[in-house]
Amino acid sequence: MIGGVAQTRDRAPASGLSRWGRALLDALFPLRCGACGQWLDVAAAAPDPLSRLLCPGCLASLRLIEGPVCSRCGQPFASDAVGDHLCGACLDHPPAYEMARSAGIYGPPLKTLIHRLKYRGQLWVAGPLGEILFSVFRRYWHHRPVDLVIPVPLHRRRLRERGFNQVQSMLRHWPRLGRGPQAAEMAPGILVRVRHTAYQAGLERKERRRNMRGAFRVVRPEAVKGRSVLVVDDVMTTGTTVTACAEALARSGARRVDVLTLARAL
Ligand SMILES: [Zn+2]
Ligand SMILES: [Zn+2]
Repeated sequence: MIGGVAQTRDRAPASGLSRWGRALLDALFPLRCGACGQWLDVAAAAPDPLSRLLCPGCLASLRLIEGPVCSRCGQPFASDAVGDHLCGACLDHPPAYEMARSAGIYGPPLKTLIHRLKYRGQLWVAGPLGEILFSVFRRYWHHRPVDLVIPVPLHRRRLRERGFNQVQSMLRHWPRLGRGPQAAEMAPGILVRVRHTAYQAGLERKERRRNMRGAFRVVRPEAVKGRSVLVVDDVMTTGTTVTACAEALARSGARRVDVLTLARAL
């Protein structure tokens, strides 16, 4: 069982710690696997965020997206035979965003971690998940300038229920983006959700689109005009949410909208 995980993990970010400080923390607060709850052998684990978050078994079942994808929507292709190219859906109806990329497939253990954060308020997973998100950002946007990073906003009613925006809680763990090739400004608050929509899960694509129409509004269009924007979300299912965000941003004159999500449903 996974009870008690929150308190063992809920501790200060360890980034500034020495190796000895880290070892001491690990001895005082042993870690459990974020998905199945079994104790982690931290000393044996690799130092990357995934190995500190998941046991070897769960790590092995994690499906990261590494092979060829649709160059636009990021949908992974089953075969490695050809490189990135446009999928049929994007050829027929190019989406409002230019490029979407995700870290992994929305299934266990990634799904378990996202649910922990989103529905159970276990904020300790936001750090490692934020680091994973950042590694995808670094990988795909290294040579692709971004001016503004905008988390998909929650409607204020949902925000009140949940108490936090799960995407913003992950973005808080990104290093400062002020300098270097990936200089960008975190800009939550520029985009707001003006319609309280039902949960999308279980809805057909068409209903999702109807559900999302006019759901987002740009508060300060002058801040968006002519800028390259990266919209960040936790899960991309049919893409209707990020498409609605991209449409609102494009209407306000954004030069380009890209999308980064932690997971992607197949
Ligand atoms: Zn596990
Ligand atoms: Zn596509």
